Amino acid sequence: MPKFKSTQDILRIIGNKDQIRNFGVIAHVDHGKTTMSDSLLAASGIISPSVAGQALALDSMKLEQNRQMTIRGANVTLYYELGGKEYVINMIDTPGHIDFTGRVTRSLRAIDGAVVVCDSVEGVKTQTETVTRQALEERVRPVLYINKIDRLVKELRLTPEKMQQWLSNIISDFNRLISIYAEPEYREKWKVSIQDSTVAFGSAKDRWAFTFDVAGKSGVKFSDIYDAYVNNKPEVLIEKIPLHDAILSMVIKHHPPPHVAQAYRIPAIWKGDLNSDVGQSLLKCDDNGPVVMMVTNIVVDPQAGIVATGRLFSGTVVSGMTLNLIGAKRAERVQSVNMYFGPYREIVEKQTAGNIPASP
Ligand code: GDP
Repeated sequence: MPKFKSTQDILRIIGNKDQIRNFGVIAHVDHGKTTMSDSLLAASGIISPSVAGQALALDSMKLEQNRQMTIRGANVTLYYELGGKEYVINMIDTPGHIDFTGRVTRSLRAIDGAVVVCDSVEGVKTQTETVTRQALEERVRPVLYINKIDRLVKELRLTPEKMQQWLSNIISDFNRLISIYAEPEYREKWKVSIQDSTVAFGSAKDRWAFTFDVAGKSGVKFSDIYDAYVNNKPEVLIEKIPLHDAILSMVIKHHPPPHVAQAYRIPAIWKGDLNSDVGQSLLKCDDNGPVVMMVTNIVVDPQAGIVATGRLFSGTVVSGMTLNLIGAKRAERVQSVNMYFGPYREIVEKQTAGNIPASP
């Protein structure tokens, strides 16, 4: 269930950049991106101090509706513990369709890893290819989540053995994309495999998933998945192998934290002089360097006015500071610094490099 965390708790965790991840979910339309993202938020969204009381008053229907709306927003923060360590994970919205404004590329720039969702019956489709190519061009590391496994049993009536064969074909198709579009340095390193647990299988609708790691720990086999659907009891899987465990452990283990990612991503995504002060600070994700933030989303909030959300690549933002808006060629004062708790914004004193601040 979502965790209540105080502002101090969250600030303490993100004070250590190793405990931050910034990722996005990308997919061909209808492959299950919304359903999966919603399931992650339902299971591991952070409840903020100001919403904690209010949440009790809202009925679950209302919460459900709020969530459905908010996962299409700018950013959602998730909380997860793995191996006794606490993580704050930003799930940044990457709009599905590429428009002429280049908004997909812009939001891909803000993330260091992607979960590519792929329908198990449909396999790798044109938009799977487009978004994966774009991610690789931004040096964003993909992992694969093959969704709608229930369809393999219910619609295609595959046996457990046939299921595994079918899935390994999808994995090969996906790795072909990595061979074609990844730069030589990442072509082998970023291939996905069952053994490395860089591939998960599941049903977002039924809220379960597993990787090789999870299968080892839980003892679940393909025959158990098959039996669950043949006996019409998919709910037995939610308890044994909840979806968020598989996805968030892939994100933590295989997506880099921001300071590690920036060391190799900045040379590909920033055109300035890497030896300058700014260049060095970007490469190091330095809290003490100049402020460089890339805005990925702007909304007009009824209370707060214009709110800009984005990835802070360098420096520290504090309220009251003046920032130069490069695209607009003017300066703006930061009224307050916000950070996300689940889908909601809370005012904080400051935000440091590698995080996703929002500023009214
Ligand atoms: P998006 O376009 O990628 O965001 O896809 P959605 O999450 O909106 O899902 C598209 C459709 O697939 C919806 O009707 C979902 O209910 C359905 N869907 C999502 N996950 C699953 C799943 O695991 N199994 C099945 N059978 N359907 C699913």
